[in-house]
Amino acid sequence: MHEISIAEEIIEIVSGYLPQAKNISVKSVMINLGKFSNIMPEALKFGFEVLINDTKLNGATLNINKIPLTIRCNNCGTESELDEPFFYCPNCESGSVEILTGMEMNVIEIELND
Ligand SMILES: [Zn+2]
Repeated sequence: MHEISIAEEIIEIVSGYLPQAKNISVKSVMINLGKFSNIMPEALKFGFEVLINDTKLNGATLNINKIPLTIRCNNCGTESELDEPFFYCPNCESGSVEILTGMEMNVIEIELND
């Protein structure tokens, strides 16, 4: 279950942003998670909840913003949203496409407790 190591990575990223003050605690963390990032949201949440014990993130909620898979065609320039990871352009059927979104995992927001 590689979601555990992804959860560890999120905790490390968030910890790196936290001020040094001792009484800081984190209320919530929001991430962008690509639909085809190969990460299971439920498993990731579970791993996060287990791993945040004994860290400044203890009690924090992990909010997952699911990002659709979008591509841009190198041939005709059309941007499309795909439901399945078949990487060809729906407009001209070119297989030369650039992935814009849908594979990412980024921490985008950290909310601290007052
Ligand atoms: Zn095209």
